[in-house]
Parts: sequence; structure tokens; C-alpha cells
Amino acid sequence: MQQANWQAELRKTKIGPATLLEDIGLARNAPALANQAAISFPLRVTEGFKNRITNGDEHDPLLRQILPLAEEDRDHPDFSFDPLAEYAKQPVPGLLHKYHGRALLVVTGACAIHCRYCFRRHFPYAESNPASQQWQTALDYLARDQTVTEIILSGGDPLTVSDERLSGLVQSLADIPHIKRLRIHSRIPVVLPERIVDTLLDWLTGTRLRPVMVVHANHANELDNSVAMAMEKLKRAHVPLLNQSVLLRGVNDSVTALAMLSERLFDYGILPYYLHMLDPVKGAAHFAVDETQARSIMQGLRELLPGYLVPKLVREIPDTPSKILL
Ligand SMILES: *Cc1c(COP(=O)(O)O)cnc(C)c1O
Ligand code: SF4
Repeated sequence: MQQANWQAELRKTKIGPATLLEDIGLARNAPALANQAAISFPLRVTEGFKNRITNGDEHDPLLRQILPLAEEDRDHPDFSFDPLAEYAKQPVPGLLHKYHGRALLVVTGACAIHCRYCFRRHFPYAESNPASQQWQTALDYLARDQTVTEIILSGGDPLTVSDERLSGLVQSLADIPHIKRLRIHSRIPVVLPERIVDTLLDWLTGTRLRPVMVVHANHANELDNSVAMAMEKLKRAHVPLLNQSVLLRGVNDSVTALAMLSERLFDYGILPYYLHMLDPVKGAAHFAVDETQARSIMQGLRELLPGYLVPKLVREIPDTPSKILL
């Protein structure tokens, strides 16, 4: 029953830009929209996230994250299809193993919302997306490599997959003796909090693997009461909660916006983890914040917040053994 609800919500997430603009009272003075970029990576948003957009505000920080603007169609020499050179980093399809001890499984290409700045917006999911029968290849690889102690379920958004399939996957992972931790990277607890149902908590906390959930919010307005309730369930199940954000021009590129985000996250039992510099993915150049400004924002945050509410500013550079701390 619960499952049917969130799956029905997921099926309704692909809406046209015109419908969205109508719904939020911007039909008449709409910003210029993308053509090409909106075809290859269409607008997708949940009802809940849409309801958190301020009506009539063309500069709303949530709207900017999902609306395909005309800027996306413009080419930029430094912005490419695969900025992190990830396609070549897969020992088996759908498994990224870049860092010591941790391997990331691209469980699915599907997401509940499409974030316009997403560095995997051009990822070739059709080839790299291991359907459940192919998960076996990844599991075999993980079983052979005893240095891997943590598995990250990512995507796309891993929580778009049914609990039945995720439960089977997690049991197979728990059968590999050297794996200790199960990390979930998901935007769904924020954008589709109804997804946090008992059957999810069952597989997340039902094996010997230590769970950790890394959610993804970029602005305090993304966190409303429905999100608080989902977080409460995860906390009661003793799942540590962390947040990662991307530093985005016009969304959260100020000390005030990021301080409010950190404060709200803590209210909801979540600690800030990473603040990522934008990956230079084609179509996202209009979100770029330069490093000088990023460092000055970080200094402002350190002066305003307790240390544990200041996220780590990081950049990803291909072929380095970790993310780079700025
Ligand atoms: C970011 C990332 C991780 C996790 O890195 P942490 O620093 O442990 O959060 C693991 N694998 C890949 C491919 C990543 O991009
Ligand atoms: S993978 Fe994450 S950041 Fe990218 S579109 Fe999906 S939810 Fe957004």
C-alpha cells in the first residue's frame, strides 16, 4: 500500500515546463527555456518539491535547480559530457571504484527530480546501468576485492528502485564478509519523503552492515515538515544522516543561504558533509561559482557557525585518490 503511493508519485514527476510555470504562477512572464537540453534531460520534479517553490518568483532557488533555462543550450569550452572521466572508471558496468575502500554502485539511472547541474546528466545509463541480473557481475567484483569495506548505493537515485529489489541486493552485499558499511546517496528523502516507508527501513537496518544515509539538499527551503517526518523515521532507526550540497550560482551562493541551510539541517538531525564545487558538465555553466568567491563564502560560514555545521568544500578532479579539499 505504502509502496503503491510513492511509486504513483514517481510516475507523475515528468511534467512539461509550461505546466510547471502555470502551476507556480509564472506562465505570463516566463524566463527563456532550453530546447535541446530539455529533450535529452527533460524536466522532472515531484509534487512535494514543486509545492516548496515560492509562487510567482522567477528567481526562486528551488525553481532554478529544475527549470531547463535557455543558457543550457549554449556551448562552453570548459564544460563537457563526462567531466569526471567516470565512463572509464568502471571495472564492471555500473560500478565506480575510484577511492580506496569504497565502491559506488550505480543502481539505476532514474531520479525523482532532474537537477539541471547534475554531473551525471549525460551518463550512459543504458549501458552502465546494471539491471538486477547484472548486479551479479558487480557483486562478483566486490567479493574478489577484499579492500572494499564500504559500498555506496547511488545512481541516478537508488531509492527509485523497489524495496523488494533493494532488499535482495543488500542481502547479497551483506554476504560478502569484508563489506562493513552500506551508504546510500539519495535526494529522495528530501524531494519525495513519502518514500521513507517501513519496508525501506527493514532492508536499510536489517543486516549486519552499518548504514549511513547521505541526503542532498542545496537550500533551506527544500526542507519542510514532510522532510522532517522522514528524517525522524530514519533517526529512530539509528541511521546516521549527512547532507551534501552543490555550490550553485543563484541558488545558495551566499553566506546567508548556506548558514540557513546548515541550521535547518541540524534542526532535522542532519549534519552537513560536503559542499561540492560544480562539476563542469555540459549545460550547467550558468551555475558556476568561482573558487575565490567559494573560499570567501566558506570563511563567512566559519565566522558564523559552530565548526560542526560548516560543510567541507570539495572539488572532484579525475584520477586523484580522493576529493580535493579546498
Ligand atoms: C564521492 C565518491 C565516493 C565517496 O567519497 P567520500 O569522500 O568517502 O564521501 C566514492 N566513490 C565515488 C566514485 C565518488 O565519486
Ligand atoms: S543523480 Fe542526484 S543530482 Fe543528479 S539529477 Fe538525480 S537526484 Fe539530481
